[in-house]
Amino acid sequence: MTRICVPVCARGIDEMRDAIARAAEVADTIELRLDCLDDLESASREFGISRTVPEGDVESRAIGRPLILTLRCAEQGGHASVDYDSRRRFWSSVKPPATDCFLDLEYDLVQGLSGTKSFDADWEQIICSHHDFNGVPPDLERIYEAMAATPAGIVKIAVQANDATDCLSVFELLERAQLEDRELIAIAMGPAGIMTRVLGPSRGSFLTYGSLDDESATAPGQVTARELRDVYRIERLDSETKVMGLVGNPVSQSLSPCMHNAAFANADLNSVYLPFQAKDVAQFIRRMVQPRTREVVWNLRGLSVTIPHKSTVMPLLDWIDPIAREIGAVNTIVVQDDRLLGYNTDALGFMTPLLKRFGRFGPVRNARCAVIGAGGAARAALWSLAKEGASAALFARNVEQATVTARDFGVPCYPLSQADFAGFDIVVNATPLGMADATQDITPATAGQLHGVRLAYDLVYNPIETVFLREARAAGCDTLNGIEMLLAQGAEQFKLWTGKEPDTEVMRAAALSRLAT
Ligand code: NAP
Repeated sequence: MTRICVPVCARGIDEMRDAIARAAEVADTIELRLDCLDDLESASREFGISRTVPEGDVESRAIGRPLILTLRCAEQGGHASVDYDSRRRFWSSVKPPATDCFLDLEYDLVQGLSGTKSFDADWEQIICSHHDFNGVPPDLERIYEAMAATPAGIVKIAVQANDATDCLSVFELLERAQLEDRELIAIAMGPAGIMTRVLGPSRGSFLTYGSLDDESATAPGQVTARELRDVYRIERLDSETKVMGLVGNPVSQSLSPCMHNAAFANADLNSVYLPFQAKDVAQFIRRMVQPRTREVVWNLRGLSVTIPHKSTVMPLLDWIDPIAREIGAVNTIVVQDDRLLGYNTDALGFMTPLLKRFGRFGPVRNARCAVIGAGGAARAALWSLAKEGASAALFARNVEQATVTARDFGVPCYPLSQADFAGFDIVVNATPLGMADATQDITPATAGQLHGVRLAYDLVYNPIETVFLREARAAGCDTLNGIEMLLAQGAEQFKLWTGKEPDTEVMRAAALSRLAT
């Protein structure tokens, strides 16, 4: 059984009750984070946790879900300013839990309480936990062995993943616990650890944690319980599941997991798509991807590749499609037997919506196109414009650097500052300017620079309405946002991985729903 545990953290009793009721809609197990409460004593009486309540029972009866009680001190990542003695006193005052109630006690407490008469809980219901918010400790195996030697029925180890490859230690622990027939919850926290939260239960983890909503995560990298169920379809995952994912840094803002998982679900495929945040792509490919060298047993079938790895990944592959080689960037990897094959679907993704949208003005091959930016997306755009027979020019902030790209595609290169696009039919923004972050209010071109242009094409897709597109509309241009390219390149990736045609409307709806929230 896949257990999704939703931690609830609230300062007041009423808020806590409300959060429990909401959590019950999506959780298999609910964790009451007692450390969040302002008044622990009153709450303990109210929820029937305290021994002083003779007939009371913990909230679990009322909500019909197994419960975990946790009082995490600040030093171990929680909210409570309680010292060791206060924690010990608190747990000694707690009623022995019913069968559907677990107590999460940190390792130091488990050591202190085991064998004492004042603590008479059923040890099978005790979760002995250890958290490391800095990274993966070098002595992780030893920590696990020490915790496994306590009387606690369940061991929980949460470490911080600073890179996707840090998840390997968590997978190793889960494998070992299964061999030893021991209940283990093992998690890598942080955005780089998301794969352990999604794949953990299918690799033997006793449970996984999912937050109530985006705002109420109780640990870094926690995804919502609804996402675990609806996007990653966690209950369906098993050792046969085909794994695909996005490798880059960062990857947390990407719409690709939403889009590809929706397409997999719609096609009823036992496949999942995960974010892999990796700083060092060579290490990631060697240790987790290449079947000849990888250190994890999984059914990994393919990857999307994004910033900053599209070029650096190329020497690590066994074969590269000639188009990707000409562009100088790979955004898709297919794992075929023990070979890694590289493709570029950005070029096709760029041109497919452009051909549709520009059609009303005439053929793209007759158009004069300005491409702003000189990175991977600009290279894919320049390659496909050249293939289409259109003329192009490059505009960049750093002309000296961009000249290399311009020379590769035989196009002129101009400084972006004070550019006038009046003589162009199509202007493409292939920079990240306008993306939903610090540059959201910045445009690479103003309305004044865009007068006379027929179509402004922004490769940025989040937000859908960028300042660049607003400026373009003010100048009377038609506009095209980056969602269409995202869908077209994603559909091509889906075909390469599965050999099937995806339903692009399903992918579109999934991507847009993510943008709307
Ligand atoms: P990249 O390889 O990092 O290249 C980014 C380019 O933008 C570089 O030439 C960079 O110039 C330039 N740039 C960055 N900040 C700038 C600024 N403040 N002013 C002027 N130029 C600036 O990235 P990429 O892969 O080409 O991606 C570019 C954009 O396209 C991203 O927003 C990405 O999300 C989007 N994209 C969308 C899709 C899609 O499916 N819709 C697909 C691929 C990419 P320097 O070299 O001087 O830093």
